[in-house]
Amino acid sequence: SKAQLFDKDTHVSINFNDVAGLEEAKVEIMEIVDFLKNPKKYTTLGGKIPKGALLVGPPGTGKTLLAKAVAGEAKVPFFSLSGSDFVEMFVGVGASRVRDLFKQAKEKAPCIIFIDEIDAIGRARGRNQITGANDERENTLNQLLTEMDGFATNAGVIILAATNRADILDRALLRAGRFDRQIHVELPDLEERKAIFKVHMKPLKFDESVGVDFLSKQTPGFSGADIANVCNEAALIAARRNKTEISKQDFMDAIDRIIGGLEKRNKIIS
Ligand code: ATP
Repeated sequence: SKAQLFDKDTHVSINFNDVAGLEEAKVEIMEIVDFLKNPKKYTTLGGKIPKGALLVGPPGTGKTLLAKAVAGEAKVPFFSLSGSDFVEMFVGVGASRVRDLFKQAKEKAPCIIFIDEIDAIGRARGRNQITGANDERENTLNQLLTEMDGFATNAGVIILAATNRADILDRALLRAGRFDRQIHVELPDLEERKAIFKVHMKPLKFDESVGVDFLSKQTPGFSGADIANVCNEAALIAARRNKTEISKQDFMDAIDRIIGGLEKRNKIIS
């Protein structure tokens, strides 16, 4: 519901094993896990722990998954909200939601705050200023900046945010002491697609005609989310065909179906 913008259930069971590929991003984000687990190690030498990092990359590439894995690995609570939830919000509500979220997080520190689709709140100010909805977005952004500046670097709260458009973000968000680190998450290459297929095929029953080499060759340009979809669709197709195991043909039909969906999506956009 619109009334509840962040998950009340803050416990996360996802860890780095659930995230296939993305080796560079994992190394970078591992540092954040260590900041949360051993803050003293850094602060005793006078270092300032970063307050946040921005995960940048195309849709469905595992940004949310990675943020959850940080919380899972560090065994800390995970608070999340999505920028798009703010779009239809009444005046004043967005800012107070941000305030509530930070208040809760500070009480539960060490913890992670995750803001998905931060571009919906954090677009550069002063553009498209026609409707009142924009003022509300600006209030929400200002509150976010205020909150980020308002807590100490050693408060144990790390804010991760995700976007596929870092270029349109308000510069104020990217300033030192805010989201001054960017972690890039790209579409998976052939080897990474194999690894992602392996993760998502683990719960499936399939016969020996099915191989991850073949499947990853058939899926250039697919995101992790697309691959997860293929695996689920293949299982549903095989079940509809009253099979006891998923075959290569079922997977191929699933891939065709997902490609059909992607083409439709691209047509709507262009
Ligand atoms: P969006 O920008 O659309 O929010 P996202 O980058 O946050 O996308 P996720 O929500 O993390 O993407 O990914 C969606 C789902 O796709 C995950 O829950 C997972 O099932 C699958 N997935 C994506 N990337 C990976 C990956 N690298 N390894 C394993 N599964 C993945």
